Amino acid sequence: MEKKVTKIGVLTSGGDAPGMNAAIRAVVRTGIYHGLEIFGIMRGYQGMMEDDIFRMDSRSVANIIQRGGTILKTARCMDFYEPEGRKKAYENLKRRGINGLVVIGGDGSFRGAQKFSQEYDIPCVGLAGTIDKDIHGTDFTIGFDTAVNTAVEAIDKVRDTMDAHDRIFIIEVMGRDAGYIALHSGIATGAENILIPERKTNINDIVNSLLEKERRKKLVNLIVVAEGDEFGGATEVEKVLKDKLPNAEIRVCILGHIQRGGSPSCLDRVIASRMGFHAVECLLEGRHNVFVGILNNKMHYIPLADAVKNKGKISDEWVRIVKILAS
Ligand code: ADP
Repeated sequence: MEKKVTKIGVLTSGGDAPGMNAAIRAVVRTGIYHGLEIFGIMRGYQGMMEDDIFRMDSRSVANIIQRGGTILKTARCMDFYEPEGRKKAYENLKRRGINGLVVIGGDGSFRGAQKFSQEYDIPCVGLAGTIDKDIHGTDFTIGFDTAVNTAVEAIDKVRDTMDAHDRIFIIEVMGRDAGYIALHSGIATGAENILIPERKTNINDIVNSLLEKERRKKLVNLIVVAEGDEFGGATEVEKVLKDKLPNAEIRVCILGHIQRGGSPSCLDRVIASRMGFHAVECLLEGRHNVFVGILNNKMHYIPLADAVKNKGKISDEWVRIVKILAS
């Protein structure tokens, strides 16, 4: 018979995302409600390997739901890719009697959890915490809504100065492999062009549209670029455009890490709370080695093995909307 989960470890891993604290809080409080012991693991898999683990109670998550970042800190841990690293981590959990693990992170962290749960008898549940929204099988990931709203706020400000000077502005947002932040923030700020990793960009089309808009005296042009687009970000796009339009006044603005920080939005706090609650219920119900997703407002439990990057799934509808609304 399957062993009952009595002690849960919780960690945040990989890139941080606003709302991770709300998820930690939900795991801790739901676990305590069910009479479980909860352990916080510092710096993701690194802390698991180094036994940087401490007992948490309801008070240890007081006053954190509104805070960005993660109180458990996060890290990328090279040793966890190796069997010896995972063994060390397992021994630390075993010694403390931890028999369930909640991993809050992106698809990389899920791959780590999947490997770990295949090798050892500690069930894992994943919560999708990534600003990139690039995990297949869930409509939401913790952090995306906050990040995209931060981007929109920043782009609105740039647009004010752009308007005053009749310039072309290229704004780079985060998204190494996924264009969701670029697409959403670009549509929400009326961008003329949006460049994303999932689609090929015809630079001549962009040049032609800029020239055509100039003829129509539409001099302000906003181009939103995901950092991982095929050219390699806004600075590279600027070079290509400058080559073709030497007289154009082009400015580049890279939003960078401000997109990761800040107080999580209401939506991120709510989905993190729901996901954290369900993660504990999953472990108690014996639903192991899955991650918690939300699809059509219903909870879904997807095998960690199926957690893959949601690549190349941007539909044509989005592209048409950008083109037609920016005319
Ligand atoms: P994210 O979770 O944000 O996608 P990473 O891809 O950096 O971030 O993954 C976070 C951590 O998860 C890695 O530093 C590593 O410790 C662990 N990890 C990722 N992929 C694997 C894997 N294939 N095997 C074992 N551990 C992994």
